[in-house]
Amino acid sequence: MVLKVSSCPHCNSKIFFRIELSDINTERFPAPVYIVHKNGIYDKTSTFYADSKLRISYSTKEKKAGALKILNTIDKP
Ligand SMILES: [Zn+2]
Repeated sequence: MVLKVSSCPHCNSKIFFRIELSDINTERFPAPVYIVHKNGIYDKTSTFYADSKLRISYSTKEKKAGALKILNTIDKP
């Protein structure tokens, strides 16, 4: 599990989530994964793209095809 600090494409807030290789399809990189930002007001899903070292290359507000899992954001560790 790798802790990631990123920003939500919907509200630009800093978000935290944990990701591991089993969360993504490792046949093709960058691999999409859905991240749900739960901020108490709304739950918004974005698509984040990870490379083979689980670095996030980019993200988009849209729910793109191909993600295996939905990951929730976590409270600031
Ligand atoms: Zn957000």
